[in-house]
Amino acid sequence: MIGKMLDNCREKRRKKLLLKRWLAGSLPDDEVSAQDHKYIQDTMRSRIKKIKRRFRRSVSIHMFIRNITIKPVGRLLRPLPVKWQEEFYDGILYPHCPACGELAYEKDHCVFCGRRFSKWDDQL
Ligand SMILES: [Zn+2]
Repeated sequence: MIGKMLDNCREKRRKKLLLKRWLAGSLPDDEVSAQDHKYIQDTMRSRIKKIKRRFRRSVSIHMFIRNITIKPVGRLLRPLPVKWQEEFYDGILYPHCPACGELAYEKDHCVFCGRRFSKWDDQL
């Protein structure tokens, strides 16, 4: 019974060390057995999943707050003409929101701050 518990403890410690060494990049590929490889893969996959889930949740919270605070105010403000300027240093003019300076993805309003556009083709 106690021997089994000790074995479990040792195994856990070994796996922790294995993962640490693998993350540090000091573990050669030929030293890893197939079982250890599977363990590393599964652990990293679940960690990435967790990070992605956390990121998605924070983005949706951010967008929700933006949609109920910034966008309604921007929608009420006076419409402005679209600003045309370079974005990717390729000599092409891209439409920008005059209020917040972000790229305009819609023709009638800014998707980031809700500001409406009065004139789309200002210079072209
Ligand atoms: Zn904007």
